[in-house]
Amino acid sequence: MYKKELKNLKESMLMRQIRDRKFIKEPIAHKIRINGAELVNFASNDYLGLSSRPELVNAAEASLHLYGFGAGSSRLLSGGTELHAELEEKTAAFKGTEAALLLNSGYTANSSAIPALAGSGDLILSDELNHASIIDGCRLSRAETAIYRHCDTEEIEKFLSSRSSGRKIVVTDSVFSMNGDIAPIDRISKICMHYGALLYIDDAHATGVLGRGRGSLAHFGTAPAEHIIQMGTYSKALGSFGAYIAASKEIITILINKCRGLIFSTALPACAAAASIAALKIVEQEGSLIEKLWLNRQRLFSGIEKLGLSTFNSSSPIIPVKTGNIEQTSAHSKLLFSRGFYAPAIRPPSVSVPRIRLTATASHTEEDIDSLLSTLREIS
Ligand SMILES: *Cc1c(COP(=O)(O)O)cnc(C)c1O
Repeated sequence: MYKKELKNLKESMLMRQIRDRKFIKEPIAHKIRINGAELVNFASNDYLGLSSRPELVNAAEASLHLYGFGAGSSRLLSGGTELHAELEEKTAAFKGTEAALLLNSGYTANSSAIPALAGSGDLILSDELNHASIIDGCRLSRAETAIYRHCDTEEIEKFLSSRSSGRKIVVTDSVFSMNGDIAPIDRISKICMHYGALLYIDDAHATGVLGRGRGSLAHFGTAPAEHIIQMGTYSKALGSFGAYIAASKEIITILINKCRGLIFSTALPACAAAASIAALKIVEQEGSLIEKLWLNRQRLFSGIEKLGLSTFNSSSPIIPVKTGNIEQTSAHSKLLFSRGFYAPAIRPPSVSVPRIRLTATASHTEEDIDSLLSTLREIS
């Protein structure tokens, strides 16, 4: 039934592959073992190396002895625990909002919160490079969705000013996951305020990374406000699992009543909430870890710039490197693999222009970065 489709994928070199790793005694934020090779990992979102920290592991283990593993039902039945509630309270405090709501993943959050906030008769404005989970959320909402050019505030303004009826929501990634650039959240927020629109921000790659870990609003010095909804995940820099939405009490109450990903899905295991609580504490207490992440990011970024390679306006630890067409990009990724670096090729349809996507973490050493740069020199 799918023979032809699979053949096409193979012939155009677009077949995706799952590459599971073997255990090694090294944090995933630093090294990885796949296909018999031990590689320095430049493809992890565990930016701060928290997933292997004893504080997270111990907190999760302690909660397992108390609550067992599975939650047993949705949060609205009996699946939630005091750890879920504690994590929500601490997340709201961390993000500076009245309330927060836990959801099972970033994908679940976007694909089910957006349809809870907008419906037919409403208008959603979505950046052309938004994450797939946002695209799916917009589709499921049945609201009219207009796609604006990447980070184009003039276009946002044009759409908002020409609309008088229904709710209006602007949805954007803060750090774009494939380009590593940052949306002008401060300007977008002001425009939304002016036109009475909501602003829904996806801080998946900003949580634990921007604004001393608090995310994109803190990065821009923009105060949380009634019209701003901050979504983020515990699964990337926080080294845990799950997602949150931090917003006003009114928004959170609507989500509790309408968000299908909350209502019709089993709650996160308590151990995931326990690990996320431990991760938030580390981010609040160890500012040096985020500083190390940015030092490593700067070392890698300026090294690549010096080689004259294009980095797609990256201004975050995500650094995509333009490396030619699909074939060339795959070949470069293989060369890196053979030299001990894991940095996969990202190809269409995930992106329109092929690239090697590198992510710097706080766990890399200067030597890791410098030796990657000397291999990249052969490509440039
Ligand atoms: C990773 C990611 C998500 C999905 O989060 P998960 O917790 O992995 O499901 C959503 N939005 C963006 C921008 C992401 O990068």
